[in-house]
Amino acid sequence: MKSTKPRVVNCPQCGIPTPYSPLNEFRPFCSERCKMIDLGRWAAEDYRVPGAPIDETADPHVGE
Ligand SMILES: [Zn+2]
Repeated sequence: MKSTKPRVVNCPQCGIPTPYSPLNEFRPFCSERCKMIDLGRWAAEDYRVPGAPIDETADPHVGE
């Protein structure tokens, strides 16, 4: 069965579960406010991106 439920992530700013979907223009934040707060922190500090999710394909483990 396929689920059509949107993926939910916690807002990095306030921790509120937020739908991570194209409909949420502030994703991964819950709101514009949280997004702006985070952007302010980026400006204040040299805050780096934690890193993009690693999307590794299964390595070809060839067996005999
Ligand atoms: Zn938030």
